[in-house]
Amino acid sequence: MTLKKDECAECGSKNVNYKEKEQQIICKDCGAIFEELAPEEEKKFERAHNQK
Ligand SMILES: [Zn+2]
Repeated sequence: MTLKKDECAECGSKNVNYKEKEQQIICKDCGAIFEELAPEEEKKFERAHNQK
């Protein structure tokens, strides 16, 4: 799964917030949180496991 930093992979919304500090993408529409994977997996994001 490859995500863009300006698009939610869950709902496809562009209303997302990329937190550069935490390297997370948070979707403002569906609330999904994505975390950046290891550097060798560049530009790939995975949905956070500990989402509440
Ligand atoms: Zn979303």
